[in-house]
Amino acid sequence: MKISIMGVAFDNVTMAQALERARALIQAPGASYCVTPNSEIVYEAMHDESLLELLNAADLVLPDGAGVVMASKILKTPLKEKVAGVDFAANLIAYMAEKDLSLYLLGAKPGIAELAAEKMKEKNPALRIAGIQDGYFKDEAAVIEKINAAAPDVLFVCLGAPKQEHFMRAHQKELNVRLMAGLGGSLDSFAGTVKRAPKWMIRMNLEWFYRLLKQPSRFVRMLRLPKFLFAVIRSKGKGGK
Ligand code: UDP
Repeated sequence: MKISIMGVAFDNVTMAQALERARALIQAPGASYCVTPNSEIVYEAMHDESLLELLNAADLVLPDGAGVVMASKILKTPLKEKVAGVDFAANLIAYMAEKDLSLYLLGAKPGIAELAAEKMKEKNPALRIAGIQDGYFKDEAAVIEKINAAAPDVLFVCLGAPKQEHFMRAHQKELNVRLMAGLGGSLDSFAGTVKRAPKWMIRMNLEWFYRLLKQPSRFVRMLRLPKFLFAVIRSKGKGGK
């Protein structure tokens, strides 16, 4: 079931159901793609029709972040839970290791994805990494060729939004993969170069505050969260979604 939050049609799933859907997409023929918009991205999509289309054309749309879940409650159409992209990725990796499926890592600064792969394999020794490519390439065609030669089951596309959404949609037909997941800064997170907030902060929905303290340069971007919530409240007043 889909729930529309300011035009973005989210899948109303728990983490376990999201993984179930991902497994089905990996088994289905053709390349599917999954997006994990947070409230900043939904706010951007409210002002960018083409981004909205890219998000809604995805096979799986997961609510990454407390802001989106909060908005769904304000709109009186509550989403079951937050499904953070990086947690979804960690769970998917464990499943892939168990089923001997292969993973390709695309994105982040040179060297980061290699470090992320090491950390992933520490936790899941059976994980098969089919290939690695940093996110600052010039020759897109060559990258597509490299990925196709490796023929991974799953491709993590970590180029930041909306670049990764454009990439997945633009190459969906030519890519020889089963499932792509747009996961923003997750490789930095796996590599440990950007730390996640302490558990108690995540529980209290304060992860955004932790990120602000660690990366003050994100301040302007983060102003989109209150702007987004105001827009949600205004639209609720008008009876829309
Ligand atoms: N990135 C990339 N190529 C680019 C621009 C960004 O690989 O051309 C990477 C960047 O190094 C970082 C991620 O994309 O690892 C974006 O991280 P951010 O935390 O900004 O993600 P978002 O909040 O957009 O999900």
